[in-house]
Amino acid sequence: MDAAWDPTAVEQLLADDRAHVWHPYASAVDPLPVLPVASASGTRLRLADGRELVDGMSSWWAAIHGYAHPVLNRALRDQVDRMAHVMFGGLTHEPAVRLARQLVEITPTSLTRVFFADSGSVSVEVAVKMALQYWQGRGQPDRRLLLTVRGGYHGDTTGAMSVCDPVTGMHGLFRALVPQQVFAERPRPRFAEPVRDSDLAEVANLLDRYAGQLAAVIVEPIVQGAGGMRFYAPAYLTRLAALCREAGVLLLLDEIATGFGRTGRLFASEWAGVVPDVLCVGKALTGGYLTMAAVLCTDEVAAGVSAAPGGALMHGPTFMANPLAAAVASASVELLLGQPWQQRVAEIEGQLTAGLAPASALPGVAEVRVLGAIGVVEMAEPVDLRALTPRLVARGVWLRPFGRLVYTMPPYISTAADVAAITDAVVGALAQDG
Ligand SMILES: *Cc1c(COP(=O)(O)O)cnc(C)c1O
Repeated sequence: MDAAWDPTAVEQLLADDRAHVWHPYASAVDPLPVLPVASASGTRLRLADGRELVDGMSSWWAAIHGYAHPVLNRALRDQVDRMAHVMFGGLTHEPAVRLARQLVEITPTSLTRVFFADSGSVSVEVAVKMALQYWQGRGQPDRRLLLTVRGGYHGDTTGAMSVCDPVTGMHGLFRALVPQQVFAERPRPRFAEPVRDSDLAEVANLLDRYAGQLAAVIVEPIVQGAGGMRFYAPAYLTRLAALCREAGVLLLLDEIATGFGRTGRLFASEWAGVVPDVLCVGKALTGGYLTMAAVLCTDEVAAGVSAAPGGALMHGPTFMANPLAAAVASASVELLLGQPWQQRVAEIEGQLTAGLAPASALPGVAEVRVLGAIGVVEMAEPVDLRALTPRLVARGVWLRPFGRLVYTMPPYISTAADVAAITDAVVGALAQDG
């Protein structure tokens, strides 16, 4: 019998968790309750008391193939017997080179160089460093500002925070630390709406006003994730990319949430036919197994950085290109491409659309929207996690709403019944009084 099944052991675990362990964006003294997970497989999280929950979160976009997938487990086991890690300074290895080859192959042709980072946030830091060092190498060191849109999310490290939405992105808390960047209004046209020139007038003005000081524009393509789960018009991104080219600034795209099929395209930028100068991927890169992200850039960017004083890109994490992460990432990419993932994501999109539709009629619901395997119910007021989470759990589903958003991005292996369980739980929990 698993020790975690013993009720007193579980109580002790939760007490120690409360006493010692910090959770994301949580108070140490008055944290929200947490659920102890004993194991996970397929689309199910198994709690310490034996209950099973259908996972609607893919562990924050990452576990696209579900949990304990036999192919990914095998890739990891095979690699751990060969080597768990070696430093990447002065050494290289097959898992890293193989993954780099795959990433270069599945992204636009002009992206040829890969930098492996430890997390999405760190990859954004690296992308920003690339942009700044690029301009140093091109003899324009005054280009060191970033332009972005409001409502964005790019991670929690300092440089990444500087391009998150200034209000929801914690700038007020860390004013002394966070550099001032240039912000335009969030993209107005929704996914299916037409785009007018006036929608990008402010961006065009800012590109003009800060000409000579801007290193790059950074945005999330199509989906603004943690900044509000909004889907904006692909034509907005197409025009933004054209404005960047005209202004001669680099375009950095953050596909950390959207990459690997989530929106119905392998990369969300494909909706807009846009090729960035620098691309960040993470989250689903390792299929949700280990922390790893990657920054891809063009030969032109790489050449610029290499012409900068010192000639090197100034970043080098201890666990760079970790072989375990690289091996499981490689297997995850192969697993994804080896199956009809577009069809799966389209099916989930249809199931989410149908299943969440009744939520539109519920009191307090502002909007229901779906894109690819992402379903969002936006409420008029912030949701009360303390009340809502137990109602979802009672319906056998794991979701983690935030702010005014109850949202789901299920693993691609989810069956129609899994997706129905999720959407029924959302509708039922939101309909339930008190
Ligand atoms: C999650 C996320 C990040 C940060 O990634 P971490 O691995 O959590 O550091 C950056 N950008 C976007 C768009 C994200 O969704």
